[in-house]
Amino acid sequence: MSDDETIFEKIVAREIPARIVYETDSVLAFLDANPLAPGHTLVVPKEAYERVGEMPDDVASEVFAAVHELTPKVEDAADADAVTVGVNDGEAAGQEVPHVHVHLVPRFDGDGGGPIHAVTG
Ligand code: AMP
Repeated sequence: MSDDETIFEKIVAREIPARIVYETDSVLAFLDANPLAPGHTLVVPKEAYERVGEMPDDVASEVFAAVHELTPKVEDAADADAVTVGVNDGEAAGQEVPHVHVHLVPRFDGDGGGPIHAVTG
């Protein structure tokens, strides 16, 4: 196991715990450890790619298929009014974990509204 594994690779490998909510052969989704709202979920490819553009087409499709399936479920489970679906793609965009991850952030009427500029602030 290499030392430069990201924290999300460790979650995929079950080396550290996470609240896993969804899994396919190629995609994992789990609750964010520092949620912006209850139900804040991260969707990641199991294979490690740092940037969105580095994912092969099939992996990108599988990640977005999971986002497509999970977004309404996260909204329902959180009893939310909307969901911010976002990626901080690169350090200047606020990416802290160098393993592609899509944030699904439940949003509520009156929570301030509007887009979140860097998804994790
Ligand atoms: P980003 O700034 O887009 O790279 O977002 C990284 C996200 O990963 C943040 O929302 C963190 O709260 C979340 N995070 C970091 N470590 C963990 C972990 N061990 N389990 C779940 N979420 C994590």
